[in-house]
Amino acid sequence: MAVRERIDEAARAAGRSADDLTLIAVTKFHPASLLRELAALGLTDVGESRHQEAREKVDELADLDLTWHFIGQLQSKKARQVAAYASVIHSIDRAQLADLVATSERVQAGAVIDCFVQVNLTDDPDRGGVAPADAEPLAAHIEGLPGLQLLGVMAVAPNDGEPRAAFERLRRVSMEVRQTAPRASAISAGMSNDFAEAIAEGATHLRIGSAITGNRPVRR
Ligand SMILES: *Cc1c(COP(=O)(O)O)cnc(C)c1O
Repeated sequence: MAVRERIDEAARAAGRSADDLTLIAVTKFHPASLLRELAALGLTDVGESRHQEAREKVDELADLDLTWHFIGQLQSKKARQVAAYASVIHSIDRAQLADLVATSERVQAGAVIDCFVQVNLTDDPDRGGVAPADAEPLAAHIEGLPGLQLLGVMAVAPNDGEPRAAFERLRRVSMEVRQTAPRASAISAGMSNDFAEAIAEGATHLRIGSAITGNRPVRR
C-alpha cells in the first residue's frame, strides 16, 4: 500500500518510528466488501464516523478480527449503541457522553473502552470537540470513570489554515491533559491530506480514508 510508504517516510523525516503509529482505515460510504479486502492486506484497525453504517459493517464482517474505532460526532442517544461494538471512541467531547458510555451494557459487563477527548481547533462551535481550554477538565472527568481508558486527544485540522500550526496547538493541549492523566499520551490526528504534518507534531493514531480507498462514493 503506497500510503504505508508515505507514512514511513513522514515518520523518518520526523525522527520517529512508524511502529509507534496506528493506521486506522476510514471507509465511510464504501461497502463492507472493501473493508474485507483491506483486512486481507493486513489492516486491523478501521474507523467509522456514522453509527448506522458502522453497525451494518460490524455485523457483515463479524468473522474478521477487526478493531473498530468510532471517529465521528456522536449523538447522546447513539452513545450506548456505539459502545456495543467500538473498541475505541475518538469523539468524546462532553462529560455526558463519557457517562453514557460508562453506563452502557458492554462496559457494565466488564469491557473497557478506550477513548480520546476530541478538541475543536476551529472557531465554529458546531464542529465536534471541546474548546482547547476544556480538554483537561473533561480528561479529568473521564479518568474518574471506571470502564473508560483515556488514551489522549483527537482533532481534525480546520479546513482553512495551516495544518501544522493546528496540530502544534493540539500537541500543547495534549501536554496539558497529561498533567492530569500522564498515561493519556496518544494523539489521534492526521487524515489523507495532512498526515505528514500530524506525524511531525506527535500524532500516534492516523485516520486515513481517501488516500487508501480513492475518492469516496456519493453518500448512500
Ligand atoms: C472521513 C474522516 C477521516 C478520513 O478522511 P480522509 O480525508 O478521507 O483521509 C478522518 N477523520 C474523520 C473524523 C473523518 O470523518
